[in-house]
Amino acid sequence: MSKIAVVTGANRGIGKEIARQLHEKEFIVIAGSRNVDKGLKAISDLNIDAEVSQLDINDEQSIVEFAGHMKKDYGRVDVLVNNAAIMGDKNMLDFDLVQMRQVLETNFWGAVTLTKYLFPLLKKSDDARLINVSSGMGDIGGMQSGGYAAYRMSKWMLNGFTMLLAGELGKNKIKVYSMCPGWVRTDMGGAGASRSVEQGADTAVWLATAENIPSGKFYRDRREVKY
Ligand code: NAP
Repeated sequence: MSKIAVVTGANRGIGKEIARQLHEKEFIVIAGSRNVDKGLKAISDLNIDAEVSQLDINDEQSIVEFAGHMKKDYGRVDVLVNNAAIMGDKNMLDFDLVQMRQVLETNFWGAVTLTKYLFPLLKKSDDARLINVSSGMGDIGGMQSGGYAAYRMSKWMLNGFTMLLAGELGKNKIKVYSMCPGWVRTDMGGAGASRSVEQGADTAVWLATAENIPSGKFYRDRREVKY
């Protein structure tokens, strides 16, 4: 039986490529996109058979409706990839409260809220995996180098979410992971980045498919790295 994967922010960048690779591995892919037309265009570009579903992770109503649709039409979720995120370029010293709220609202709070509403469906899977797309910019060393304050904090908190949830789940069948795609050529990473989207998506797809990967850890290039 095919596994069911939800990918947020699947209309471009790394999320679109994660959707493509999971489809290639015979998952039923639900591509979350806050703008459905952009999502449909992405899936048409890829020429894959994936469902596009409206999903704005900043909008609790959109999340509730999405979760209702998943419950009614699929009844379970095997893999949730919390990929959607935004960047913020301000330093901590700028104390840009608006940017901090926006970035934390999307990158941390959006991921936590979607996970909350899909959790009952993850529990229905025999092999559930929650994959939080984080960043080396949110590891402890990255925090100390400063800059991109809101983004770093958001990924640091997302890593905390991974650790807390995995810790509380213990030996439960639901596995929780953080991963860093590296510096990837997307709208966020820019044209000068060192990696392709294929490389950026690889570890997330490995976490979705390989056996016996320890829960609660942070991964990059298919290896555990320090938080
Ligand atoms: P990207 O090209 O900027 O794409 C971001 C995606 O997130 C878009 O699909 C965007 O949708 C979506 N998104 C943003 N806010 C959303 C919301 N409120 N609801 C739903 N979707 C929303 O970024 P990317 O480079 O692919 O990054 C993907 C992930 O990798 C992110 O978590 C990022 O932090 C992480 N990452 C990237 C790099 C890098 O070098 N690129 C490095 C480390 C980590 P719209 O088109 O509607 O805006």
